[in-house]
Amino acid sequence: MPGKNLSRDEAQQRAGILAVDGYRVRLDVTSAPDPAAATFRSTTTVAFRCSQPGAATFLDLLAPAVRSITLNGRALDPATAYDGARVHVDGLAAENVLTVEADCAYSRTGEGLHRFVDPADGETYLYTHYEPADARRVFANFEQPDLKAPFSFTVTAPAAWDVWSNAVHESVTEEGAARTWEFAPTKPISTYLTAVVAGPYHVARDHYSLELADGTTLEIPLSAMCRKSLAPYFDADEILGVTKLGLDFFHEEFDFPYPFGKYDQAFVPEYNIGAMENPGCVTFKEEFVFRSKVTDAAYEARANVVLHEMAHMWFGDLVTPRWWDDLWLKESFADFMGSYGLIGARTRYSSAWVTFANQRKAWAYRQDQFPTTHPITADIRDLEDAKLNFDGITYAKGASVLKQLVAYVGSEAFFEGARRYFKRHAFGNTELADLLGVLEETGGRDLKSWAAAWLQTAGVNALTPQVTTDAEGRITELAVLQDTADDPATPSRGVLRPHRIAVGLYDRDADGALVRTERIELDVTGTRTVVTEAVGRPRPALVLLNDEDLTYCKIRFDAESLEALRTGLGDIRDELARALAWSAVWNLTRDGLMPARDYVALVLRFAGQEGNIGVLQSLHAQAKTAVDLYAAPEWRAEGARQLADGALRELREAVPGSDHQLAWARFLAQTAGGAEHLGLVRGLLTGSARIDGLEVDQELRWSLWLALAAAGQAADEELAEELAADNTAGGKRQYTQCLAARPTPEAKAAAWSAVLDSDELPSAMVEANTAGFSIPAQRDLTVLYAAPYFKLLEKVWAERTIEIAMRIVGGFFPIAQTDEQTLAEADAWLSGHPQAAPALRRLVLERRDDLARALRAQSCDRA
Ligand SMILES: [Zn+2]
Repeated sequence: MPGKNLSRDEAQQRAGILAVDGYRVRLDVTSAPDPAAATFRSTTTVAFRCSQPGAATFLDLLAPAVRSITLNGRALDPATAYDGARVHVDGLAAENVLTVEADCAYSRTGEGLHRFVDPADGETYLYTHYEPADARRVFANFEQPDLKAPFSFTVTAPAAWDVWSNAVHESVTEEGAARTWEFAPTKPISTYLTAVVAGPYHVARDHYSLELADGTTLEIPLSAMCRKSLAPYFDADEILGVTKLGLDFFHEEFDFPYPFGKYDQAFVPEYNIGAMENPGCVTFKEEFVFRSKVTDAAYEARANVVLHEMAHMWFGDLVTPRWWDDLWLKESFADFMGSYGLIGARTRYSSAWVTFANQRKAWAYRQDQFPTTHPITADIRDLEDAKLNFDGITYAKGASVLKQLVAYVGSEAFFEGARRYFKRHAFGNTELADLLGVLEETGGRDLKSWAAAWLQTAGVNALTPQVTTDAEGRITELAVLQDTADDPATPSRGVLRPHRIAVGLYDRDADGALVRTERIELDVTGTRTVVTEAVGRPRPALVLLNDEDLTYCKIRFDAESLEALRTGLGDIRDELARALAWSAVWNLTRDGLMPARDYVALVLRFAGQEGNIGVLQSLHAQAKTAVDLYAAPEWRAEGARQLADGALRELREAVPGSDHQLAWARFLAQTAGGAEHLGLVRGLLTGSARIDGLEVDQELRWSLWLALAAAGQAADEELAEELAADNTAGGKRQYTQCLAARPTPEAKAAAWSAVLDSDELPSAMVEANTAGFSIPAQRDLTVLYAAPYFKLLEKVWAERTIEIAMRIVGGFFPIAQTDEQTLAEADAWLSGHPQAAPALRRLVLERRDDLARALRAQSCDRA
């Protein structure tokens, strides 16, 4: 399709000559409940100025049909002016009014205006999602972040529905079976931030007010919505409680009154991402409405997202990156603020930095070691590049680097800089220099070299301690090595960075716990930095670099410290230090420096005493990956049996009714293989077996069914019966995954063709199929699909929307075929397709790198 992929150059040109005064957008979605209706009517009227009268420009629009185009009273012929992606207009005046009337399509992929029919009650729900550039699927517009404008939405919908948008509604008029909602004009915002949510949603309302410094009171109406059939599970009080704490906190930190009036939070079905920061109308994936018992880690994750999106009201919505190169200017900040806010706003999630160290950073380290990694400030040529940059660098590494910046300039300078940034750039667009400018003003430090090292280069450094002692066991020198040549997995790309770190020295106390006896904070620069304060102290059992997780780096250990971890990792008393140690040994495993079976042994030995539930759940996932991908093939079966035995042992020993018990039950379901484990799984389902305190609720039931299905021990009728008992959106997904997980050629073929032969599947169902299809232990069944996979990549990329294509490319990659032949096939595709879309090549390069890493780890495990 011509021009579908807007380039940065085109956006710059357009912004160079245009200024948008405002949009009026009318949508008529009364047809939505009719499954036969594929489209809805959309009419945009945009008023804009042009600094070069006579020039030509275009609006973006992805619509099946354009009915009329009128520029300054002159009718244009859609047949010639509309090319399927753009509405071309020329002969612009200094001031213009352009109206485009189109039929736009209801979406099934979560891009644009998504339509969902609830299997539980037949109700229809709509919501929009646009970032980075899908507003053009719903109404004609100048789709780029720096052409901000006020938007006035009018939505006509079935009379029984409610409708929300960014602003409050000013009137609702009923006519026949429809109601028309007129919304107040928004503040100037970017197109990708506009939103409409419509349907018979269940809604909980509340209110927030705050006395401002000038004596006035800020009033913010709050609401939270979800589908009616989820209402019994909707803990809106908890969500709104976090919301209010966050509003208190961000007002205090940012000193800029919330600028968007009201604050709605909609939990919507089949959402492709965690959440989206539409001003005044945030959308979340509805999996955050918990239908069954989940661990506290899930509540913490949700609260983190609530605060992340709220931080965006300032970082992103009030002040917006000019183009997607500086996406990090909003995502890194919001990601940092999610964790910072959980602590600062005094929510009950006081271990937020442990979660950050353990999970967010793992995401960053993984992404940063791909050959496709990029600096935090990226080079984003076009929208396809932009789409792939919502990644571990932009979010998690960026947030980690901001955490380091806070340590570097001090938190007061950092937040004073933020306050100036909001005041100076309110309702505008920014670039890196705008941020550095305010931080240099407030911090008094030149940030150019800091930014060059941290923001404008890619890669992660490894820090390793080097300890020498005298005959009495006293330290004669403690040095911190940055990326030494004896580390075979140094991914720093030759860049050494300034690191503000703490070094922790740990020894056993009288109770046998490993506790910090010394903490030394210093700047690490260059390849070797001596920690002078350590000289003369007794050699400790454990030297932990980057204690307290101030900087972003991989940490290594000297031989004695590593031995201390092997015998006592679980005995480290401090929760954050223990999480750092777990991360470090996982990185060693991924880097092929610790055999996978040694990592599994550490998990089996110490995971049972891990108090932090989020860390425990990470250990489960990582131990499973270690066995599935990183262990030598000849040890896999033994490793799998050890994990299942460990899961069963810990499940029986866990405190009844605890989160830990639930986590171990799920881990048992993921690892169960032998007759004993599968027998218990079936027993838990039928009720013939019980674990004291363990409630086998709906989500756990599906996990248990998945174990049986993958083992070939779930009859089709049994799965169908379970679906009949849970005929919901979530139930359908789980059922689909169970079907795809059955160990038969027919099941694999059905899942493969369900995804590839129809473009009707929403992304959640694509994921259910690929997840069930790709069970690593079934590699002998899926090996047949490796060659066809590489043959169809370009076709998938060309024909499917990017959200779906990304899931297919990632989900069907033959990662379980960890052998040289598959690696060669991936390489052959890459070298044979230099002209393939860069975003597609990037996805394949990353999966190929996962495969190569697994092969390296396997040879370490074998040796
Ligand atoms: Zn975000």
